[in-house]
Amino acid sequence: MNPARPLYPRPLFRYCPRCARETGNGDDGRRLVCPHCDFRYYHNVAAAVAAVVVHDDALLITHRAHAPAAGTLDLPGGFLDPGEAPEHALARELAEELGWSVLPAPLVFHHAAPNDYEYAGVRYATCDLFFRLEPAKRPPLAPADDVAHAEWRPLASLEPAAFGMASVREVVARLRAPPGT
Ligand SMILES: [Zn+2]
Repeated sequence: MNPARPLYPRPLFRYCPRCARETGNGDDGRRLVCPHCDFRYYHNVAAAVAAVVVHDDALLITHRAHAPAAGTLDLPGGFLDPGEAPEHALARELAEELGWSVLPAPLVFHHAAPNDYEYAGVRYATCDLFFRLEPAKRPPLAPADDVAHAEWRPLASLEPAAFGMASVREVVARLRAPPGT
């Protein structure tokens, strides 16, 4: 993480969402404790899922249609809905973004990593859960929703810097690293 760029710029709220008075020192950017009405809000870590779909030394990548980082490369995935299990969230995202109504392979948990996601001027700390899928053949792609375009790219040709999200750049760098490093 870049120490020059605080994860939680303060204040998160200039005015209390409940009593509408100034938040003053009650807002440290991560949590708000209203000095007037004692309203408490914690800007907690949000969970997200992403798919590492590999076939024949190629990775399935998407092009981000919307902010943040519109136009950069990404992996299919998104935020969990409240009450949703991570595997269910990823199956839903793959259906929404690629048209996969049935998973082409089992989801195998790969790893988790923190990320920093800024949207409409609000910064969210996320916990990104990566799952690997290795389909026996390449399923058809019908990009929609947050995905402008999806395609298979040989792992050796991928540049981590072309990916908009730090946690995804890390995964791509790891996939490209020779085994055992
Ligand atoms: Zn208040």
